[in-house]
Amino acid sequence: MTNARRDGLHKLTTRLVREHGTIVIENLNVAGMLRNRRLARHVAGVGWGELRRQIEYKTSWAGGRVVVADRWYPSSKTCSACGVVKAKLRLSERTFRCDQCDFVLDRDLNAARNLAQLVDEVSGRHVLPELRGRR
Ligand SMILES: [Zn+2]
Repeated sequence: MTNARRDGLHKLTTRLVREHGTIVIENLNVAGMLRNRRLARHVAGVGWGELRRQIEYKTSWAGGRVVVADRWYPSSKTCSACGVVKAKLRLSERTFRCDQCDFVLDRDLNAARNLAQLVDEVSGRHVLPELRGRR
């Protein structure tokens, strides 16, 4: 089991680094997520720390770039079309619906679009402090 999981993780991170020059990682609150029983099942088995470690060293070998989004950056709550930030978004809401511009998209795809836009705003490896919680 452990070897299969490790092998799978290496294949995933190698492919990610080969196919993308820049990778954005969300610095999620893993300890907090583990306290949530529903999330804990998924997070505990995967090894986020190891995933991030592999992405970082493989990216540096390949001459790519890792951008780390601050854990307070509202990637899920921000509308990737108009930039308005929702006050609240339940974990059970899998579809993002903007109250401002009626934009509708899968929750994870909306967050991914926001993180991709973040790359354009960031230079270097870490999120600039003034970008935290913006928009
Ligand atoms: Zn919107």
